[in-house]
Amino acid sequence: MTSVEQQVINNYQSWLRLGHKHHPRRLKVRSRRPLVCPSASIELADSVFAKFDEVTESVVYFEDSITISEIVKDVVDRERFQIDNRLTGQCITRLCVHWDNGCRLGWFVSKTSLEPEEVSTVCTIKDSCRWRAENGSSICAPCSRVRNIKLGESLT
Ligand code: SF4
Repeated sequence: MTSVEQQVINNYQSWLRLGHKHHPRRLKVRSRRPLVCPSASIELADSVFAKFDEVTESVVYFEDSITISEIVKDVVDRERFQIDNRLTGQCITRLCVHWDNGCRLGWFVSKTSLEPEEVSTVCTIKDSCRWRAENGSSICAPCSRVRNIKLGESLT
């Protein structure tokens, strides 16, 4: 697990345990246009935009997103595929467990500490990404250090 993933999980779970009391304000959605999720589950994903490099613990972006067909979803090991790749699909807003009048998961990723570093600007979803639209381009650094973040049963 990367340090960014660990921070997100710890902070998110503490926030849930406290009953959201230390962040009483709901998030503000800054854009009404349809945006995509940079952390889609395989069930909701329509394409892969990057893979995760276990050695460098960072995301390697593809030049173009690759469509995932239903046939591919049927044959791959879904858990492994989600860990090895970064998947995207339409943000489902109110239907998502992370929705809090904005994406609470993206907000937690944006609040992690990460030493300043060069971040690739080739991410193919950056112009339609929910996390970037709501948190600004500074989220690209911590986003490049996470996989599909599992928060376990705390959100169910
Ligand atoms: S609310 Fe966040 S985690 Fe949920 S689908 Fe939208 S961008 Fe993805």
